[in-house]
Amino acid sequence: MFKKIGLIVVIVIVVLVGVMAFNTFTNKANTPAIDAVKMSAIDADAAANRLAEAVRIRTISAGSGDAPASAEFDQLHLLISNSFPRVHENLKREVVGGHSLLYTWEGSDSTLRPVLLMGHMDVVPVEPGTEGDWQENAFSGAIRDGAIWGRGTLDDKLSVFAILEAAELQLAEGFKPKRTLYFAFGHDEEIGGENGAGKIAALLEERNVKLAFTLDEGMVVVQGLMPGIEDPIAFIALAEKGYLTLQLTATTVGGHSSIPPRTTAIGKIARAISRLEENRFPAALISPASDMFDTLAPHMPLPLKAIISNRWLLDPLLVAELGKGGATNAMVRTTTAVTITEGGTKDNVLPSTATATINFRLLPGTSIQDVVEHVATVVDDPDIVIAVKQGNEPSRVSSKSAEGYHLIEKTIRETLPDVLVSPGLMLAGSDSKHYEGIAENSYRFIPMRFGPDDLARVHGTNERLFIDNYIEIIQFYRRLMENAAG
Ligand SMILES: [Zn+2]
Repeated sequence: MFKKIGLIVVIVIVVLVGVMAFNTFTNKANTPAIDAVKMSAIDADAAANRLAEAVRIRTISAGSGDAPASAEFDQLHLLISNSFPRVHENLKREVVGGHSLLYTWEGSDSTLRPVLLMGHMDVVPVEPGTEGDWQENAFSGAIRDGAIWGRGTLDDKLSVFAILEAAELQLAEGFKPKRTLYFAFGHDEEIGGENGAGKIAALLEERNVKLAFTLDEGMVVVQGLMPGIEDPIAFIALAEKGYLTLQLTATTVGGHSSIPPRTTAIGKIARAISRLEENRFPAALISPASDMFDTLAPHMPLPLKAIISNRWLLDPLLVAELGKGGATNAMVRTTTAVTITEGGTKDNVLPSTATATINFRLLPGTSIQDVVEHVATVVDDPDIVIAVKQGNEPSRVSSKSAEGYHLIEKTIRETLPDVLVSPGLMLAGSDSKHYEGIAENSYRFIPMRFGPDDLARVHGTNERLFIDNYIEIIQFYRRLMENAAG
Protein backbone atom coordinates (compact mmCIF):
# COMPACT_ATOMS: atom_id res chain seq x y z
CA MET A 1 0.00 0.00 0.00
CA PHE A 2 2.66 2.52 1.12
CA LYS A 3 4.87 1.42 -1.72
CA LYS A 4 2.07 2.22 -4.14
CA ILE A 5 1.46 5.72 -2.69
CA GLY A 6 5.21 6.39 -2.75
CA LEU A 7 5.34 5.40 -6.38
CA ILE A 8 2.42 7.70 -7.26
CA VAL A 9 4.11 10.62 -5.46
CA VAL A 10 7.32 10.01 -7.35
CA ILE A 11 5.47 9.88 -10.67
CA VAL A 12 3.60 13.13 -9.89
CA ILE A 13 6.87 14.88 -9.00
CA VAL A 14 8.61 13.63 -12.13
CA VAL A 15 5.70 14.79 -14.31
CA LEU A 16 5.58 18.21 -12.60
CA VAL A 17 9.29 18.75 -12.95
CA GLY A 18 9.07 17.66 -16.58
CA VAL A 19 6.22 20.07 -17.35
CA MET A 20 8.00 22.91 -15.59
CA ALA A 21 11.26 22.24 -17.41
CA PHE A 22 9.39 22.04 -20.72
CA ASN A 23 7.60 25.35 -20.05
CA THR A 24 10.85 26.98 -19.03
CA PHE A 25 12.98 25.85 -21.93
CA THR A 26 10.36 26.41 -24.62
CA ASN A 27 9.65 29.95 -23.34
CA LYS A 28 11.45 31.90 -26.06
CA ALA A 29 11.06 35.54 -27.03
CA ASN A 30 8.82 35.87 -30.06
CA THR A 31 10.09 39.17 -31.36
CA PRO A 32 9.87 39.57 -35.11
CA ALA A 33 13.11 40.46 -36.86
CA ILE A 34 13.12 44.19 -37.56
CA ASP A 35 16.04 45.93 -39.23
CA ALA A 36 17.48 49.15 -37.86
CA VAL A 37 16.61 52.17 -39.99
CA LYS A 38 19.14 54.88 -40.62
CA MET A 39 17.62 58.33 -40.48
CA SER A 40 19.31 61.37 -42.04
CA ALA A 41 21.71 63.20 -39.72
CA ILE A 42 20.63 65.96 -37.35
CA ASP A 43 22.50 69.13 -36.33
CA ALA A 44 22.86 68.08 -32.69
CA ASP A 45 24.31 71.36 -31.40
CA ALA A 46 21.51 73.43 -32.87
CA ALA A 47 18.83 71.10 -31.49
CA ALA A 48 20.49 71.05 -28.04
CA ASN A 49 20.63 74.84 -27.99
CA ARG A 50 16.95 75.16 -28.78
CA LEU A 51 16.02 72.86 -25.89
CA ALA A 52 18.48 74.69 -23.60
CA GLU A 53 16.76 77.98 -24.41
CA ALA A 54 13.39 76.48 -23.49
CA VAL A 55 14.82 75.32 -20.14
CA ARG A 56 15.78 78.92 -19.32
CA ILE A 57 12.14 80.02 -19.47
CA ARG A 58 10.63 79.36 -16.02
CA THR A 59 7.26 77.88 -16.93
CA ILE A 60 6.71 76.60 -13.40
CA SER A 61 3.49 75.04 -12.15
CA ALA A 62 3.71 75.57 -8.40
CA GLY A 63 0.39 74.85 -6.68
CA SER A 64 -3.05 74.07 -8.10
CA GLY A 65 -4.46 77.35 -6.75
CA ASP A 66 -1.75 79.54 -8.32
CA ALA A 67 -2.15 81.53 -11.53
CA PRO A 68 -0.17 80.12 -14.47
CA ALA A 69 3.16 81.73 -15.38
CA SER A 70 1.51 83.63 -18.25
CA ALA A 71 4.45 85.81 -19.33
CA GLU A 72 6.77 82.79 -19.38
CA PHE A 73 4.36 80.71 -21.44
CA ASP A 74 4.05 83.58 -23.95
CA GLN A 75 7.83 83.65 -24.16
CA LEU A 76 7.99 79.88 -24.70
CA HIS A 77 5.31 80.05 -27.42
CA LEU A 78 7.37 82.70 -29.20
CA LEU A 79 10.52 80.60 -28.92
CA ILE A 80 8.65 77.64 -30.43
CA SER A 81 7.24 79.66 -33.34
CA ASN A 82 10.66 81.15 -34.10
CA SER A 83 12.59 77.89 -33.69
CA PHE A 84 10.36 75.83 -35.97
CA PRO A 85 9.38 78.09 -38.90
CA ARG A 86 8.16 75.24 -41.13
CA VAL A 87 5.92 73.89 -38.41
CA HIS A 88 4.64 77.40 -37.81
CA GLU A 89 3.87 77.87 -41.49
CA ASN A 90 2.42 74.48 -42.38
CA LEU A 91 0.56 73.24 -39.32
CA LYS A 92 -2.59 74.69 -37.82
CA ARG A 93 -1.75 76.16 -34.42
CA GLU A 94 -4.28 76.84 -31.67
CA VAL A 95 -3.82 78.16 -28.15
CA VAL A 96 -6.20 76.29 -25.84
CA GLY A 97 -7.03 76.82 -22.17
CA GLY A 98 -4.98 80.00 -22.05
CA HIS A 99 -1.49 78.58 -22.57
CA SER A 100 -1.62 75.09 -24.04
CA LEU A 101 -0.83 74.43 -27.69
CA LEU A 102 -2.57 72.19 -30.19
CA TYR A 103 -0.99 71.65 -33.60
CA THR A 104 -2.84 69.90 -36.42
CA TRP A 105 -0.90 68.38 -39.31
CA GLU A 106 -3.66 67.52 -41.73
CA GLY A 107 -3.35 64.10 -43.40
CA SER A 108 -4.42 63.31 -46.95
CA ASP A 109 -6.52 60.26 -46.01
CA SER A 110 -9.43 61.19 -43.77
CA THR A 111 -10.46 57.54 -43.36
CA LEU A 112 -7.42 56.96 -41.10
CA ARG A 113 -7.94 57.75 -37.45
CA PRO A 114 -5.57 60.50 -36.27
CA VAL A 115 -2.68 59.99 -33.87
CA LEU A 116 -1.92 62.47 -31.08
CA LEU A 117 1.61 62.99 -29.76
CA MET A 118 1.83 64.69 -26.39
CA GLY A 119 4.14 66.52 -24.06
CA HIS A 120 3.81 69.25 -21.44
CA MET A 121 5.50 72.63 -21.23
CA ASP A 122 5.27 73.24 -17.49
CA VAL A 123 7.84 72.07 -14.96
CA VAL A 124 7.90 71.58 -11.19
CA PRO A 125 9.75 74.11 -9.00
CA VAL A 126 13.11 73.37 -7.42
CA GLU A 127 12.66 72.28 -3.82
CA PRO A 128 13.75 75.19 -1.61
CA GLY A 129 17.11 74.50 -0.03
CA THR A 130 18.33 72.16 -2.80
CA GLU A 131 19.32 74.87 -5.31
CA GLY A 132 22.95 74.62 -4.26
CA ASP A 133 23.06 70.85 -4.85
CA TRP A 134 22.73 71.33 -8.60
CA GLN A 135 25.91 70.95 -10.61
CA GLU A 136 24.49 73.55 -12.99
CA ASN A 137 21.75 76.00 -12.06
CA ALA A 138 18.32 74.41 -12.55
CA PHE A 139 17.25 77.06 -15.08
CA SER A 140 20.63 77.67 -16.69
CA GLY A 141 20.09 75.42 -19.68
CA ALA A 142 23.83 74.81 -19.45
CA ILE A 143 25.39 72.49 -22.00
CA ARG A 144 28.22 70.60 -20.35
CA ASP A 145 29.76 67.11 -20.51
CA GLY A 146 27.61 66.22 -23.50
CA ALA A 147 24.36 66.97 -21.67
CA ILE A 148 21.71 69.67 -21.47
CA TRP A 149 21.11 70.62 -17.84
CA GLY A 150 18.03 71.87 -16.04
CA ARG A 151 14.34 71.52 -15.26
CA GLY A 152 12.38 70.12 -18.14
CA THR A 153 15.20 68.19 -19.82
CA LEU A 154 13.66 64.91 -18.58
CA ASP A 155 10.17 66.10 -17.66
CA ASP A 156 8.95 67.15 -20.15
CA LYS A 157 10.11 70.01 -22.37
CA LEU A 158 12.31 67.49 -24.10
CA SER A 159 9.38 65.67 -25.68
CA VAL A 160 7.67 68.92 -26.72
CA PHE A 161 10.85 70.04 -28.45
CA ALA A 162 11.78 66.60 -29.82
CA ILE A 163 8.35 66.26 -31.46
CA LEU A 164 8.70 69.74 -33.00
CA GLU A 165 12.30 69.05 -34.13
CA ALA A 166 11.06 65.86 -35.78
CA ALA A 167 8.19 67.62 -37.57
CA GLU A 168 10.48 70.44 -38.75
CA LEU A 169 12.95 67.92 -40.21
CA GLN A 170 10.21 65.88 -41.85
CA LEU A 171 8.72 69.03 -43.39
CA ALA A 172 12.16 69.99 -44.72
CA GLU A 173 12.38 66.58 -46.39
CA GLY A 174 8.97 67.03 -48.00
CA PHE A 175 7.12 64.52 -45.82
CA LYS A 176 3.35 64.67 -46.21
CA PRO A 177 1.30 62.65 -43.71
CA LYS A 178 -1.52 60.41 -44.92
CA ARG A 179 -2.92 60.22 -41.41
CA THR A 180 -3.65 63.42 -39.51
CA LEU A 181 -1.17 64.03 -36.70
CA TYR A 182 -1.94 66.17 -33.67
CA PHE A 183 0.66 67.56 -31.29
CA ALA A 184 -0.79 68.55 -27.93
CA PHE A 185 1.35 70.40 -25.40
CA GLY A 186 -0.24 71.09 -22.02
CA HIS A 187 0.69 73.89 -19.64
CA ASP A 188 -0.53 72.46 -16.31
CA GLU A 189 0.25 68.73 -16.29
CA GLU A 190 2.13 69.01 -13.01
CA ILE A 191 -1.04 70.24 -11.27
CA GLY A 192 -3.54 67.86 -12.87
CA GLY A 193 -3.85 69.06 -16.47
CA GLU A 194 -7.50 70.15 -16.20
CA ASN A 195 -7.00 73.46 -18.01
CA GLY A 196 -4.54 72.21 -20.61
CA ALA A 197 -4.95 68.60 -21.74
CA GLY A 198 -8.47 68.61 -20.27
CA LYS A 199 -9.53 71.54 -22.48
CA ILE A 200 -7.77 70.21 -25.61
CA ALA A 201 -9.49 66.85 -25.22
CA ALA A 202 -12.86 68.60 -24.79
CA LEU A 203 -12.24 70.67 -27.93
CA LEU A 204 -11.36 67.58 -29.99
CA GLU A 205 -14.38 65.76 -28.65
CA GLU A 206 -16.57 68.70 -29.68
CA ARG A 207 -15.14 68.29 -33.18
CA ASN A 208 -15.94 64.58 -33.12
CA VAL A 209 -12.31 63.55 -33.37
CA LYS A 210 -11.66 59.87 -32.67
CA LEU A 211 -7.99 59.07 -32.16
CA ALA A 212 -6.31 55.76 -32.98
CA PHE A 213 -3.93 56.34 -30.09
CA THR A 214 -2.11 58.91 -27.98
CA LEU A 215 1.57 58.77 -27.07
CA ASP A 216 2.65 60.63 -23.94
CA GLU A 217 5.45 60.72 -21.39
CA GLY A 218 5.43 57.86 -18.90
CA MET A 219 7.97 55.07 -19.06
CA VAL A 220 11.47 55.10 -20.54
CA VAL A 221 14.39 52.88 -21.55
CA VAL A 222 15.98 51.47 -18.41
CA GLN A 223 19.20 49.58 -17.92
CA GLY A 224 20.48 47.78 -14.85
CA LEU A 225 17.15 47.82 -13.03
CA MET A 226 15.65 44.49 -14.03
CA PRO A 227 17.24 41.54 -12.21
CA GLY A 228 19.34 39.41 -14.52
CA ILE A 229 18.72 41.41 -17.71
CA GLU A 230 21.65 43.42 -18.94
CA ASP A 231 20.13 44.77 -22.15
CA PRO A 232 18.33 48.09 -21.95
CA ILE A 233 14.54 47.66 -21.89
CA ALA A 234 12.01 50.07 -23.42
CA PHE A 235 8.80 49.97 -21.40
CA ILE A 236 5.66 51.12 -23.16
CA ALA A 237 3.15 51.81 -20.40
CA LEU A 238 -0.32 50.46 -21.20
CA ALA A 239 -1.88 51.98 -18.10
CA GLU A 240 -1.28 54.28 -15.18
CA LYS A 241 -2.25 53.76 -11.57
CA GLY A 242 -5.03 55.77 -9.97
CA TYR A 243 -4.46 58.39 -7.29
CA LEU A 244 -6.47 58.87 -4.12
CA THR A 245 -5.97 60.88 -0.96
CA LEU A 246 -8.27 60.18 1.96
CA GLN A 247 -8.53 62.13 5.18
CA LEU A 248 -9.53 60.26 8.31
CA THR A 249 -10.87 62.38 11.14
CA ALA A 250 -11.42 60.99 14.62
CA THR A 251 -13.72 62.96 16.93
CA THR A 252 -14.05 62.37 20.67
CA VAL A 253 -15.00 64.47 23.67
CA GLY A 254 -12.26 66.95 24.64
CA GLY A 255 -11.52 68.12 28.14
CA HIS A 256 -8.84 67.99 30.79
CA SER A 257 -6.18 65.33 30.46
CA SER A 258 -6.43 64.47 34.18
CA ILE A 259 -9.65 62.55 33.49
CA PRO A 260 -8.97 60.95 30.12
CA PRO A 261 -11.16 58.41 28.29
CA ARG A 262 -9.70 55.00 27.52
CA THR A 263 -8.80 56.14 23.95
CA THR A 264 -8.30 59.73 22.79
CA ALA A 265 -8.88 61.00 19.27
CA ILE A 266 -5.16 60.54 18.64
CA GLY A 267 -5.33 57.00 19.95
CA LYS A 268 -8.19 56.24 17.58
CA ILE A 269 -6.30 57.64 14.60
CA ALA A 270 -3.19 55.71 15.60
CA ARG A 271 -5.23 52.50 15.80
CA ALA A 272 -6.79 53.17 12.39
CA ILE A 273 -3.35 53.71 10.84
CA SER A 274 -1.97 50.57 12.37
CA ARG A 275 -4.96 48.53 11.14
CA LEU A 276 -4.53 49.90 7.62
CA GLU A 277 -0.82 49.15 7.54
CA GLU A 278 -1.47 45.63 8.76
CA ASN A 279 -4.31 45.00 6.31
CA ARG A 280 -2.82 45.97 2.97
CA PHE A 281 -4.68 45.47 -0.26
CA PRO A 282 -4.13 41.97 -1.60
CA ALA A 283 -1.32 41.59 -4.12
CA ALA A 284 -2.08 40.22 -7.58
CA LEU A 285 -0.07 39.98 -10.76
CA ILE A 286 -2.49 41.35 -13.37
CA SER A 287 -2.18 43.14 -16.72
CA PRO A 288 -0.15 45.16 -17.58
CA ALA A 289 2.41 44.14 -14.94
CA SER A 290 1.83 40.49 -15.84
CA ASP A 291 2.40 41.30 -19.56
CA MET A 292 5.75 42.75 -18.60
CA PHE A 293 6.88 39.60 -16.77
CA ASP A 294 5.55 37.35 -19.53
CA THR A 295 7.39 39.38 -22.18
CA LEU A 296 10.68 39.54 -20.30
CA ALA A 297 10.76 36.02 -18.81
CA PRO A 298 12.64 34.51 -21.78
CA HIS A 299 15.46 37.00 -21.15
CA MET A 300 15.71 36.31 -17.42
CA PRO A 301 18.18 34.01 -15.64
CA LEU A 302 17.06 30.52 -14.71
CA PRO A 303 15.32 30.55 -11.35
CA LEU A 304 13.22 33.60 -12.31
CA LYS A 305 12.57 32.32 -15.81
CA ALA A 306 11.40 28.97 -14.45
CA ILE A 307 9.06 30.60 -11.94
CA ILE A 308 7.49 33.00 -14.46
CA SER A 309 7.20 30.28 -17.10
CA ASN A 310 5.19 28.21 -14.64
CA ARG A 311 2.82 30.77 -13.23
CA TRP A 312 -0.03 28.22 -13.45
CA LEU A 313 1.62 26.57 -10.46
CA LEU A 314 3.96 29.11 -8.90
CA ASP A 315 1.94 32.34 -9.08
CA PRO A 316 1.43 32.62 -5.29
CA LEU A 317 5.20 32.29 -4.78
CA LEU A 318 5.96 34.94 -7.43
CA VAL A 319 3.34 37.40 -6.14
CA ALA A 320 4.53 37.01 -2.55
CA GLU A 321 8.09 37.73 -3.64
CA LEU A 322 7.14 40.78 -5.75
CA GLY A 323 4.86 42.10 -3.01
CA LYS A 324 7.64 42.31 -0.45
CA GLY A 325 8.40 45.96 -1.13
CA GLY A 326 9.68 48.72 -3.37
CA ALA A 327 8.78 49.16 -7.01
CA THR A 328 7.73 45.53 -7.58
CA ASN A 329 5.28 45.82 -4.68
CA ALA A 330 3.79 48.93 -6.31
CA MET A 331 3.29 46.89 -9.51
CA VAL A 332 1.20 44.20 -7.85
CA ARG A 333 -0.74 46.13 -5.25
CA THR A 334 -2.89 49.16 -4.54
CA THR A 335 -0.47 50.86 -2.16
CA THR A 336 -1.23 52.60 1.13
CA ALA A 337 0.98 55.44 2.40
CA VAL A 338 0.18 57.46 5.51
CA THR A 339 1.68 60.86 4.73
CA ILE A 340 0.37 63.39 7.32
CA THR A 341 -1.00 63.12 10.86
CA GLU A 342 -2.29 65.98 12.95
CA GLY A 343 -3.86 66.24 16.40
CA GLY A 344 -3.45 67.85 19.78
CA THR A 345 -2.45 71.36 20.81
CA LYS A 346 -1.35 71.26 24.45
CA ASP A 347 0.19 68.66 26.72
CA ASN A 348 -2.67 68.78 29.29
CA VAL A 349 -5.64 69.12 26.91
CA LEU A 350 -7.50 66.18 25.39
CA PRO A 351 -7.67 66.61 21.62
CA SER A 352 -11.27 66.60 20.37
CA THR A 353 -10.12 65.72 16.85
CA ALA A 354 -7.15 64.08 15.19
CA THR A 355 -6.58 63.45 11.48
CA ALA A 356 -4.52 61.26 9.19
CA THR A 357 -3.95 61.86 5.50
CA ILE A 358 -3.43 58.69 3.50
CA ASN A 359 -2.33 58.44 -0.12
CA PHE A 360 -3.30 55.41 -2.18
CA ARG A 361 -2.14 54.44 -5.68
CA LEU A 362 -4.75 52.24 -7.30
CA LEU A 363 -4.06 49.27 -9.53
CA PRO A 364 -6.07 49.20 -12.77
CA GLY A 365 -9.35 47.49 -11.91
CA THR A 366 -9.58 48.91 -8.37
CA SER A 367 -11.92 51.90 -8.01
CA ILE A 368 -11.91 54.80 -5.56
CA GLN A 369 -15.14 53.33 -4.17
CA ASP A 370 -13.36 49.99 -3.56
CA VAL A 371 -10.66 51.76 -1.56
CA VAL A 372 -13.11 53.77 0.53
CA GLU A 373 -15.00 50.56 1.35
CA HIS A 374 -11.80 48.70 2.23
CA VAL A 375 -10.72 51.52 4.55
CA ALA A 376 -14.13 51.68 6.27
CA THR A 377 -14.12 47.93 6.84
CA VAL A 378 -10.56 47.79 8.13
CA VAL A 379 -10.76 50.89 10.35
CA ASP A 380 -14.15 49.78 11.73
CA ASP A 381 -14.66 52.76 14.06
CA PRO A 382 -17.88 54.83 14.12
CA ASP A 383 -15.98 57.81 15.57
CA ILE A 384 -13.82 58.09 12.45
CA VAL A 385 -15.11 59.90 9.36
CA ILE A 386 -13.53 59.11 5.99
CA ALA A 387 -13.45 61.89 3.38
CA VAL A 388 -12.04 61.94 -0.17
CA LYS A 389 -9.60 64.85 -0.50
CA GLN A 390 -8.47 64.23 -4.06
CA GLY A 391 -8.71 61.36 -6.46
CA ASN A 392 -8.67 60.06 -9.97
CA GLU A 393 -9.47 56.55 -11.03
CA PRO A 394 -6.76 54.31 -12.55
CA SER A 395 -6.65 54.37 -16.34
CA ARG A 396 -8.00 51.53 -18.40
CA VAL A 397 -5.44 49.10 -19.79
CA SER A 398 -4.64 49.79 -23.45
CA SER A 399 -4.16 46.97 -25.92
CA LYS A 400 -0.75 45.50 -26.60
CA SER A 401 -1.99 43.87 -29.79
CA ALA A 402 -3.44 47.03 -31.36
CA GLU A 403 -1.84 48.73 -34.37
CA GLY A 404 -0.59 51.63 -32.22
CA TYR A 405 1.43 49.40 -29.92
CA HIS A 406 2.98 47.59 -32.88
CA LEU A 407 3.87 50.89 -34.55
CA ILE A 408 5.61 52.16 -31.42
CA GLU A 409 7.41 48.86 -30.85
CA LYS A 410 8.57 48.71 -34.47
CA THR A 411 9.78 52.31 -34.31
CA ILE A 412 11.75 51.63 -31.13
CA ARG A 413 13.42 48.61 -32.65
CA GLU A 414 14.26 50.50 -35.84
CA THR A 415 15.77 53.51 -34.10
CA LEU A 416 17.18 51.95 -30.89
CA PRO A 417 18.19 48.51 -32.14
CA ASP A 418 19.97 47.54 -28.89
CA VAL A 419 16.87 47.55 -26.68
CA LEU A 420 14.26 44.98 -25.66
CA VAL A 421 10.65 46.18 -25.76
CA SER A 422 8.05 45.34 -23.13
CA PRO A 423 4.63 46.54 -21.99
CA GLY A 424 4.63 48.21 -18.57
CA LEU A 425 2.57 49.85 -15.84
CA MET A 426 3.19 53.51 -15.05
CA LEU A 427 3.25 54.08 -11.29
CA ALA A 428 2.83 57.87 -11.50
CA GLY A 429 0.25 59.89 -13.44
CA SER A 430 0.21 61.70 -16.80
CA ASP A 431 -2.00 63.92 -18.98
CA SER A 432 -3.06 60.84 -21.01
CA LYS A 433 -6.08 60.28 -18.79
CA HIS A 434 -7.77 63.37 -20.22
CA TYR A 435 -7.86 61.79 -23.69
CA GLU A 436 -9.25 58.40 -22.70
CA GLY A 437 -12.73 59.34 -23.89
CA ILE A 438 -11.60 60.08 -27.47
CA ALA A 439 -8.66 57.69 -27.92
CA GLU A 440 -8.93 53.99 -28.64
CA ASN A 441 -5.60 53.39 -26.89
CA SER A 442 -3.18 55.44 -24.78
CA TYR A 443 0.53 54.64 -24.63
CA ARG A 444 3.12 56.29 -22.41
CA PHE A 445 6.74 56.15 -23.47
CA ILE A 446 9.72 58.39 -24.33
CA PRO A 447 13.00 56.75 -25.42
CA MET A 448 15.03 58.44 -22.70
CA ARG A 449 17.80 56.17 -21.44
CA PHE A 450 17.81 55.82 -17.65
CA GLY A 451 20.42 54.18 -15.46
CA PRO A 452 19.79 53.25 -11.82
CA ASP A 453 20.35 56.81 -10.50
CA ASP A 454 18.44 58.76 -13.15
CA LEU A 455 14.89 58.35 -11.89
CA ALA A 456 15.76 60.54 -8.88
CA ARG A 457 16.60 63.41 -11.25
CA VAL A 458 12.96 63.68 -12.36
CA HIS A 459 11.40 66.32 -10.08
CA GLY A 460 14.74 66.12 -8.20
CA THR A 461 18.24 67.52 -8.38
CA ASN A 462 20.56 67.58 -11.41
CA GLU A 463 17.93 66.90 -14.06
CA ARG A 464 19.82 66.54 -17.32
CA LEU A 465 19.64 64.83 -20.70
CA PHE A 466 22.55 63.58 -22.77
CA ILE A 467 22.57 65.15 -26.24
CA ASP A 468 23.25 61.79 -27.94
CA ASN A 469 20.10 60.44 -26.36
CA TYR A 470 18.15 63.59 -27.30
CA ILE A 471 19.07 62.98 -30.94
CA GLU A 472 17.85 59.36 -30.64
CA ILE A 473 14.56 60.66 -29.24
CA ILE A 474 14.10 63.07 -32.15
CA GLN A 475 14.88 60.27 -34.63
CA PHE A 476 12.36 58.06 -32.84
CA TYR A 477 9.59 60.65 -33.30
CA ARG A 478 10.58 61.20 -36.96
CA ARG A 479 10.40 57.50 -37.69
CA LEU A 480 7.15 57.20 -35.75
CA MET A 481 5.62 59.94 -37.93
CA GLU A 482 6.68 57.98 -41.01
CA ASN A 483 5.46 54.65 -39.65
CA ALA A 484 2.15 55.97 -38.36
CA ALA A 485 1.34 58.45 -41.10
CA GLY A 486 3.61 57.68 -44.06
ZN1 LIG B 1 5.80 65.11 -16.75
